[in-house]
Amino acid sequence: MTDTLDPATLAATGPDIPQVRRLVTTIPGPRSQALTDRRTASVSAGVGGTLPVFAERAGGGVIVDVDGNSWIDLGSGIAVTNIGNSHPFVVANVTEQVAKFTHTCFMVTPYEGYVAVSEHLNDLTPGDHDKKSALFNSGAEAVENAVKIARAHTGRAAVVVFEHGYHGRTNLTMALTAKNMPYKQSFGPFAPEVYRMPMSYPFRDGPHDGAEVASWAISKMDKELGGTNIAAIIIEPIQGEGGFIVPAPGYLPALREYATQHGIVFVADEIQTGFARTGQWFACEHEAVVPDLITTAKGIAGGLPLAAVTGRAQIMDSVHVGGLGGTYGGNPIACAAALGAIEAMKSEDLCARARHIESIMIPRLRSLAQSHPEIGDVRGRGAMIAIELVQPGTTTPDSELTQRIAKACHAQGVLVLTAGTYGNVLRFLPPLSIPDHLLNEGLDVLEGAF
Ligand SMILES: *Cc1c(COP(=O)(O)O)cnc(C)c1O
Repeated sequence: MTDTLDPATLAATGPDIPQVRRLVTTIPGPRSQALTDRRTASVSAGVGGTLPVFAERAGGGVIVDVDGNSWIDLGSGIAVTNIGNSHPFVVANVTEQVAKFTHTCFMVTPYEGYVAVSEHLNDLTPGDHDKKSALFNSGAEAVENAVKIARAHTGRAAVVVFEHGYHGRTNLTMALTAKNMPYKQSFGPFAPEVYRMPMSYPFRDGPHDGAEVASWAISKMDKELGGTNIAAIIIEPIQGEGGFIVPAPGYLPALREYATQHGIVFVADEIQTGFARTGQWFACEHEAVVPDLITTAKGIAGGLPLAAVTGRAQIMDSVHVGGLGGTYGGNPIACAAALGAIEAMKSEDLCARARHIESIMIPRLRSLAQSHPEIGDVRGRGAMIAIELVQPGTTTPDSELTQRIAKACHAQGVLVLTAGTYGNVLRFLPPLSIPDHLLNEGLDVLEGAF
């Protein structure tokens, strides 16, 4: 596919890519195949891969590969390009910033963008208490810093996390992450003082409500740790890599209440759920849960690497001066991108857009589940929707079928991702900029795959 857009046009209109699904070569095409050969020779085999095709351009709801195949994107680079790839506001802000300066280090010579992003985060995150923020490069780094802050604030060591949870791949966040393969296998020893509690998983819990499942976790914390020894409870309000598990109503509020009673810092890891993805700015809002700290990354900056911890000013300020930071944290180009991304989410009301996507996807997937009993569960919120595949009539995971369906979608030009502790969840994370006709076509392909 030839590129007819000059940079000026790009900045003015965003990538003007035809919003179509179109396969023009075998998959992978010859150019992707040649690049895959170079990749195999030069890139560590430890870095995984979903699709054997290389991207050339992306925008709206499509990714165009180097052979000119146009894919429907139901992954958003794992919940990152919520506003769409190369959104014009991001392109404009980044272009302007990159020409002014690229780096000074905020700890050495500060700049306004970092402060402006912090102001937006303090304003947009749940709760009307005084808040402050600190910026980092990746989600894992934000979670690590949330733990540092919670420990400094409480003077306690223990950190509570949950079954099926995912918090990153650094040493501390590997300890926080539940799943062994592929995240932890052969990478230990892991950081101490991390305790895993039962998670509410409605499809697998049987007839127990959220408050009841929370009471199992709470009694375990009481008996095994003692509430006053716990620095932080860290939870994804909807679990991402774990399989888009939406806890039963009442579960999150009960944990929030327990944290309040014992002076525990309640940390919502909204790295995957944040920034309009679930139909609210943050997924906590669906249950009116106000966290003490919130970690964000992925959707924050339209594709540039940026992450944050935001929370109660008194907690954020309990760290000694110089205790937080990093060379690149809150890089000026990433901050410029975030300001563009936040402006786009506001001006295009992307929370409403995510709810609209839910209103298309949920009924179609439910009706597909009626005729296909191997779909055991349809769940999620906004544009964060999944189906869990099982042996019909049971909860026995069918990861083999999940892989086959994903491959069948890939063969038809639809990018879908898998997830879940048992590898049996197909998850859908379309960019919120996807046009309805492409979303529906992607679902047609999925139905055809079944
Ligand atoms: C992706 C993710 C992380 C890790 O973010 P990275 O930027 O990959 O380090 C942490 N928590 C959640 C909930 C995530 O989805």
